[in-house]
Amino acid sequence: MWMPLKGYSSMNMTMYMPVRLVTGRNCVAERAAEIAALGPRCLIITGRHSSKANGSLADVTDALDGQGVEWGLFDEIGANPLLEDCERAGRMAREMGAAFVIGIGGGSAMDAAKCAAVFAANPGLSEDDLYAVRWQTKALPQVMVGTTAGTGSEVTMVAVITDRSGRKRSFRDPSVFPVLALGDARYTISMSERETLSTAADAGMHCVESYFNRQANDYSRTVALRGLRILKSCADMIREKKGTESLTLEDREALYAASIYGGMAIAVTGTAMPHAVSYLLTEEYHISHGTACAVFLPDFFVLNEAAEPELCKTFLEELRLSRKDFLAMFRTLTPEISVSMTEKDAADAMGRFENNNGLKKTFGSPDALWVKEMLMRLFSSESL
Ligand code: NAP
Ligand code: ZN
Repeated sequence: MWMPLKGYSSMNMTMYMPVRLVTGRNCVAERAAEIAALGPRCLIITGRHSSKANGSLADVTDALDGQGVEWGLFDEIGANPLLEDCERAGRMAREMGAAFVIGIGGGSAMDAAKCAAVFAANPGLSEDDLYAVRWQTKALPQVMVGTTAGTGSEVTMVAVITDRSGRKRSFRDPSVFPVLALGDARYTISMSERETLSTAADAGMHCVESYFNRQANDYSRTVALRGLRILKSCADMIREKKGTESLTLEDREALYAASIYGGMAIAVTGTAMPHAVSYLLTEEYHISHGTACAVFLPDFFVLNEAAEPELCKTFLEELRLSRKDFLAMFRTLTPEISVSMTEKDAADAMGRFENNNGLKKTFGSPDALWVKEMLMRLFSSESL
């Protein structure tokens, strides 16, 4: 029998995701005319190596050449992209008269392309104005070709860019929803075990943090659950195959699909406590993004069990998982990390968790002190 959940209405499904998403093998070549319709000239934005090795860059340049679209290449985006690099890419796009940009890569290259599209249209935009979304001219249109299966940046209006002080910060605006996202999971085959696990964990955390989120609605929870169901079978497969090396293209497609569902979920809600705290681990301890989020899953779940026990029960029932199996699924995707913090390290980090958006969206209202205590419980060098 259908039972309404407390504080939860199936008539709340407000969403806005204006991205033309096309997935499937060879979708870049097949959609060449749609790319070309965006203008006569574009700038391609990538990381240094992977897009050349996995075939994605060649597929895009073949498609552009076939349609007579002129293109330039900015291939200097690193992981956790720097504001300065996005600014340089934006300048290049402007100087060459690009009508649009194409981001090829993982979340870093895709977010950098979003940010460069803003700078291209708004030269001289200050750092403060960028993060406060105070710009005059609409960003250039963006096309995304994802090559990892994690961030879902293809379908979000968010870019996470490292500011001039070294902090990862995001901005959110409808003008950085890509106009076209082309998802061909063949490009993800070349990911190492570490990258595959970390990006899969990121996709899973998007689903969980979106489900347990004050902004969640019926649509976002539905896609979050779909992403998690797919990831559960992927985690089983990874455990069975004793790693990611022998994953098939179909398995990679499943992981990619899960990442898109996760992206659709956070496009509505944004993320919550684990992402908010993960930036500390990435900036100070160089832990890759998805792993840095997933280490906080057990504490996040305990927080939700205390604040929203009925919702946790429904969540596990929907997934047809016991609590133990749900947590085990994330353990499969999360390698051991070595982080060691003193009490002073954790106390020094507290400032960043005051008035933090991700914490505000989290049930149970954890505050900066709660985060400090969690960090000490997980990483205290003094208790080793
Ligand atoms: P990434 O930082 O984009 O890439 C990590 C590494 O993987 C890079 O060295 C990259 O090499 C390599 N790589 C990419 N595709 C590969 C492939 N197919 N085969 C082999 N290597 C490959 O990783 P990511 O996890 O996808 O993105 C993380 C970033 O996205 C973080 O900054 C995170 O904060 C952000 N994020 C954004 C959103 C959003 O909604 N906008 C959501 C979640 C996370 P190259 O440098 O040579 O390309
Ligand atoms: Zn993420």
